[in-house]
Amino acid sequence: MNEIICFRCNSENIVRNGNTSYGKPRYMCKDCRRHFVENPAKEKISVEKKELIDKLLLERLSLAGI
Ligand SMILES: [Zn+2]
Repeated sequence: MNEIICFRCNSENIVRNGNTSYGKPRYMCKDCRRHFVENPAKEKISVEKKELIDKLLLERLSLAGI
């Protein structure tokens, strides 16, 4: 049922523990007491995407300024 597994000890004994500053659900492993966010790799990709979009927007703005 619970698809979230602790990346440190592979335990399924996970509890939800509030939200991150990004509004993503935060979890805690009951076995090793480690806090983590679901799919942190996904967040990294979205940040990279955002940077790309910002870059494209910036290029567009500089083109419009010419
Ligand atoms: Zn753990």
